[in-house]
Amino acid sequence: MYTLGMDIGSTTSKAVILRDGREIVASSMVIATVGTLGVFQVMDHVLEESGLKKEDMACIVATGYGRQTYGEADYQVSELTCHGLGVRHVCPQARTVIDIGGQDAKVLSLGEEGRMVNFVMNDKCAAGTGRFLDVMANILKLDISQLEVEAARSEKPANISSTCTVFAESEVISQLAAGTAIPDLVAGICQSVAVRTAALAKRAGIKEKVFMSGGVAKNGGVRSALEKELGTEIGWHPLGQLMGALGGCIYGWEKSR
Ligand code: ADP
Repeated sequence: MYTLGMDIGSTTSKAVILRDGREIVASSMVIATVGTLGVFQVMDHVLEESGLKKEDMACIVATGYGRQTYGEADYQVSELTCHGLGVRHVCPQARTVIDIGGQDAKVLSLGEEGRMVNFVMNDKCAAGTGRFLDVMANILKLDISQLEVEAARSEKPANISSTCTVFAESEVISQLAAGTAIPDLVAGICQSVAVRTAALAKRAGIKEKVFMSGGVAKNGGVRSALEKELGTEIGWHPLGQLMGALGGCIYGWEKSR
C-alpha cells in the first residue's frame, strides 16, 4: 500500500511516497510554496520518480503552513503531528524535536511511544528561523549551503547582538565594513540562531535524545552551536527537511491500513 505526504511549507514544498508505512520509494522538494505552482510540481516529480499514479495512493495527506490550500488531500494534518511521526520513524529514541523551517521554529516533546505531548513555537519574528539565515547569506553573497563550511573555518565567532533580523542585517553590514572575516560573521550568525532556539527548547524542556528537523537542520554551523548551547548531542538525518511529508505518509498509513 502506498501513501503520499505533502508538506506545503512557508519556503518549500515537499512530497514523499511511502510503501507499507516503512519504505520511502520517492521524495521531492521544490523551493516554492503555497499559492504557487510549486505544490503541483512537487506532486508531479514524486509521482514521476516512483512510476506511480495518484490513483495508486491509498491516502494523500497534506501538512504544513499551506495544507488548507490543497483540496485534493484525504486529510489535512498539523505539521506538529506530522513532524513528530516522521522523526519517530527515522529516530525512535528522539524525545525532543527541534524543527526550524523557513518562517518558524518549533520544539516538540515526544512521549515514550513517540507521540507529541507538548510544544512551543517562536513568536512571529524571522530571527531564529531559516529566513534570518537566508537574509544573512544573501548579504554575504553566499549560498545557504555554504554557511556550515564557512562557520567551521571560524576562529572567533562575531557577536551579533541584535535580536531583530532588520537590525542584525545592518550589524552584519557594519561588521563587514570593519573587516570582520566572513567565517567569523557566519559563525556569529549561526550562534545567534542557536541562542534563540536554545531558549525556546528550554521552555519546552529538554529530554534526550534531541533531534533536529526542517531545512535549517542541514546547517552544521547551527547544529554545532546549538549542541554547545544545550550541552547535548543533536541527532539529524539528511532527509530531515522531509520529516513533515514523511509523517504525513505515516499518518495516512495508520488511517488506511
Ligand atoms: P518550510 O517548511 O517552512 O518551507 P523548510 O523546512 O523547507 O521550511 O526550511 C527552509 C529553510 O531551510 C530555508 O529558509 C534555509 O534557511 C534552510 N536550508 C535549506 N536548504 C539548506 C541547505 N542546503 N543548507 C542549509 N540550510 C538550508
